[in-house]
Order: sequence, then C-alpha cells, then structure tokens
Amino acid sequence: MTRIFSGIKPSGHLTLGNYLGAVRQWVASDQEPDEALFCVVDLHALTVEHDPARVRRLTRQAATLLLAAGLDPQRCTLFVQSHVDEHTRLAYLLECTASDGELRRMIQYKEKAARAQGAGEGVRLSLLTYPVLMAADILAYGAQEVPVGEDQRQHVELTRDLAVRFNQRYGHTFTVPKATHPKVAARVMDLQEPTSKMGKSHENGAGIVYLLDEPEVVTKKVMRAVTDTGDGGVVYDRQARPGVANLLDLLAACTGGDPAALAGGYSGYGALKRDVADAVVELLRPVRERHAELAADPGAVEKVLREGAGRARALARPLVDRAHEAIGLLAP
Ligand code: ATP
Ligand code: MG
Repeated sequence: MTRIFSGIKPSGHLTLGNYLGAVRQWVASDQEPDEALFCVVDLHALTVEHDPARVRRLTRQAATLLLAAGLDPQRCTLFVQSHVDEHTRLAYLLECTASDGELRRMIQYKEKAARAQGAGEGVRLSLLTYPVLMAADILAYGAQEVPVGEDQRQHVELTRDLAVRFNQRYGHTFTVPKATHPKVAARVMDLQEPTSKMGKSHENGAGIVYLLDEPEVVTKKVMRAVTDTGDGGVVYDRQARPGVANLLDLLAACTGGDPAALAGGYSGYGALKRDVADAVVELLRPVRERHAELAADPGAVEKVLREGAGRARALARPLVDRAHEAIGLLAP
C-alpha cells in the first residue's frame, strides 16, 4: 500500500483546474482510510487577505464538493487541517530546519507577494512560511505520494529537501515523499489568459470554470476562450499556441484521448470549443448534482470531517511526537 496525502485551500470556489489536476486523481486512488488522506487546508487560506465568514463557508463547500466528486469516507480520510494540531506543531519544527533563502525562492511566494503588494495589502509572514506548513501536512502522515497539479512541484521538492535534511541531522524520522501528476491537464490554464494557470483565488472569473458553474455559464466561458492568432489550423503546441493547447488538454482530459492526436480532427476553433464545452459540462454534471444533494445535509458532512480529524490525529501524533524528541525537545 502506498500512503498518499493531498490538500486543497478554501481560498475560492473549486475550479476545473483543481478537479483535473488534483481531485480526480484522489478519487481514483480508491484505498483504505489510513492510506489516503485528503484535507481542506484552511490554515493556508489565511496567508492572504481573507474574510473569516467566507473562509468558513468555503471550507464547508470544499469538503462537500470533494465528497460530491467521489471521495468515499469509507475508503479515505477527509478532514480539515486546523482540526488536527499536529500540523502546526510539526510546522514549527520544520521552520527550524528550513532557511529563509529557500523560502524566498518559491515561485508562488513571489507571485502571491507581488499580487498582495499590487493590491496595496501587506505580505503576511505566513505567506512566506506556507510551504513549511505544507511540508508538515505531508510529513506528519509519512505520506509516500502527493497527488497534485504541476504548480505544486516546487513545494513538494522543498518538502523532500526538509525531510532529508531533518533525517540527516536528527536521525531517520520522515518518509521522503514524491509528487505525482496526471498525464494530461496537470496545469490547466486560464481561458482568458492562457499563459497563466487557472487559479481559484484570481479576481477575474471569466477565464475560470468553477465546478459549480451552471452548464450555460461553462459553455459561455469556453466559447469565449482566448485562442491564438496564426493560421496554422488546430495544432497542439503549448509554447506557440497556448490557448488552443489548453482546449485540447481539456478535451483530452474529459474524453481520455491524446491532445496532439485530437488536434487532427479539427479544422477550426469553433467546433473544438463546442466539443470542449460539451465535454466539460458532462464531466461536471454529476458533481454538481451530487453537491446539491449533499449540501442539503450539512450535518452529515460535518460528521465525516469530525471522524476524519479523529483518524488523522491518531495517525499523525506518534510521528510528530517522534520528531519532537528527535530535534531535542523533552517528551511531554
Ligand atoms: P489559489 O489560487 O488560492 O492558490 P488554486 O486554484 O491554485 O488556488 P490550491 O488549493 O492552491 O488551488 O491547489 C489545490 C490543488 O489543485 C493542488 O494540487 C494544485 O496543484 C491543483 N491545481 C490548482 N490549480 C490548478 C490548475 N490550474 N491545473 C491543474 N492543477 C491545479
Ligand atoms: Mg494554488
């Protein structure tokens, strides 16, 4: 059995990028509860300007959507990060393992810090230390694999570096995890700005397909997607033709085909967009429908999260206790 861990931040409504890059892999993992841990990482949503009531609402919604997408609480552990204190306990020990320089090099820190400054907001210290907390999320469970989108590659690399460094300094404590990515759509691009990743916290939603968008809205967003200029027809070239390549990636991810091969079936962008729109609508339909059912019984979702937190705590505590002693702290 391979133990896997992954998480999603309640920083906005879940997107098609989150679904294809991460959540769909989680659903496919189909394991035992102790081997597959999925987490709504609410503490990470506090690293930028936030509205408390919205974070609470989005945390509940994210958990409900994960269940709607097919996570089965009988076969995985689903919980909320802040309900398990071991994450922050371990994060501090890892902050004493990481260096200021390696955190300042993180691409997402640079991007998100620039965005906060551009909006006239301060850069929270937690935005800098966020990848250390993420390392703690993963290492606390001895996870071997971390199914994530491409954009998280650098953070999982840092997690590996911290695990190796801690083990070398203080004796073997942590499993060194590796990231896994889906074959297609590991980096879904924004439909209006196909050189940037689709991200749920971005201000302009016109290029973002949200999992709960109505079918008409999904269709409109896809039909208005920015395509590339040039008369080379429909070809799959991520560098030169990012808009079209993104549409082909989406079609391939929805239909199970190969993006480059699918390109051959189209002579114009219009037909491609229509097929992408239809495929995405069909992909999301069951998720939306199931979400509506589950949202009608929030007590049931809360019960799943409570039980999940109990299981997660029981798994994390002995490992974090071991790290606590290894680094030089007296056992309590
Ligand atoms: P934010 O803009 O707040 O960072 P996000 O959309 O990037 O939000 P996260 O909670 O940071 O979402 O990431 C959750 C998971 O979704 C991660 O595994 C991440 O790699 C994946 N993911 C996020 N965006 C995409 C995308 N555009 N394509 C593929 N995977 C993605
Ligand atoms: Mg992100």
